[in-house]
Amino acid sequence: MLVEEKWEEILLTVKEEYDLSNIVYESWIKPLEICQIDGNKLYVLVPPEQIALNYINKKYLTPLKIVIEEITGIDYDIRFILPEDAKKIKPVKSIAHTENLPAENYNLNPNYTFDTFVVGNNNKLAHTISLVVAEEAANPEKKFNPLFLWGGVGLGKTHLMHSIAHHILSNHPQLRIQYVSSEVFTNEVIDAIRNGSNSQINAIREKYRNIDVLLVDDIQFIIGKDRTQEEFFNTFNVLYNAGKQIVISSDKPPKEMTTLEERFRSRFQWGCMADISSPDYETRMAILRKKEEMDDFKFDDEIIEYIANNIKSNIRELEGALNRLMAYSRLTNVNITIETAKEQLENIINPDSHKAVTPELIVEIVAEHFQKTPEQLRSKSRSSDIVRPRQIAMFLCKNMTDSSLAAIGEILGGRDHSTIIHGIEKIEEDYAHNESTQKLIEMIKKKINPN
Ligand code: ADP
Ligand code: MG
Repeated sequence: MLVEEKWEEILLTVKEEYDLSNIVYESWIKPLEICQIDGNKLYVLVPPEQIALNYINKKYLTPLKIVIEEITGIDYDIRFILPEDAKKIKPVKSIAHTENLPAENYNLNPNYTFDTFVVGNNNKLAHTISLVVAEEAANPEKKFNPLFLWGGVGLGKTHLMHSIAHHILSNHPQLRIQYVSSEVFTNEVIDAIRNGSNSQINAIREKYRNIDVLLVDDIQFIIGKDRTQEEFFNTFNVLYNAGKQIVISSDKPPKEMTTLEERFRSRFQWGCMADISSPDYETRMAILRKKEEMDDFKFDDEIIEYIANNIKSNIRELEGALNRLMAYSRLTNVNITIETAKEQLENIINPDSHKAVTPELIVEIVAEHFQKTPEQLRSKSRSSDIVRPRQIAMFLCKNMTDSSLAAIGEILGGRDHSTIIHGIEKIEEDYAHNESTQKLIEMIKKKINPN
């Protein structure tokens, strides 16, 4: 979202949240103008006296910063400047209202594009429809709206959704899009509710309703979460009624989502459903070859065939096996033979071998699952996107190992025993009441202990 587009709302929110009088607002806040944006530096023009600049800097820098972050999600480094100094700032980026921001601002993986997506029998239909949807995003066809992509873990749903988003960003830059995982969406809604902040709720609505294409990944996670589900339902209706394209992914088709309410079920089925199934041998080979090519690596055919023959259900694991061999080869600087490959892949491929389940392994895998680092889980951070994975790690350490609470606390950054109990209880309760949490936990357990 562009801070320029939201500028008026931002200034008004500062007035509202900090209870500024009209005279203060009119004299100091309303005249502020964006002069330039350079990365995360935001240059703001103030009325033309040094005295005003000093005063605004002292009184209103922090309120402005906080509100901007609330509304745009971006933590800008704000610099107030006088008009006479404005000329000295190099125009790094012109302020264009219709142009999309670079892909990293959309939480898109730059490697997940149509170019790198290998088409096979398992995903042909999903791929074709995704491409049509991306091409026609300006005028979505009713029969493809919403597009509902479903399939098991690690089969390419996220890759395909990011491909659609990238395609639209580069070919239809005038379209405003949002890609969000339903976990992130849920956290945003929960945060807004917890803070009781109307402006935050409004910002969420602005963000997701004032757009042309909405992509929501892993919708199964919001099902059953009342407020989030309601918020999404209303957003869906607003966009759908305005003829905007919606793309949803899920690990199951709507009819198998047992706790799905009828109103969702019918809406999800209005447009088009496409599934992605497990790749056949040829597709597995093609994916491995593609990945080799992208990473500029070349293994013996025998090794690639060995992987393709032994890892069948999940493309993430397929890639994981290849990554492991590449890492090993870089580390040891030797050419990998089939024997070394078998040895290295023993834990992944041979179902009888056990990798000891330790708290360290759990922390590592939980962190990876949430795209965080183990250091983040051990850190002091209280931000909700870290707290929850950390609590899940506590819960799993208790359930999957014999470690004492003290030991779990130790491994998670030296936390005390009551913090650990609290964390475990939170997840236990959530687990007891939420199907989506149960699924999440089961999925992570499988990653920790695939047998
Ligand atoms: P899902 O969202 O269904 O769990 P992902 O989209 O995250 O799965 O895919 C898992 C991994 O497999 C990703 O690294 C992705 O790039 C890769 N992958 C999946 N399908 C394909 C494909 N058809 N071609 C190339 N890579 C793929
Ligand atoms: Mg995914």
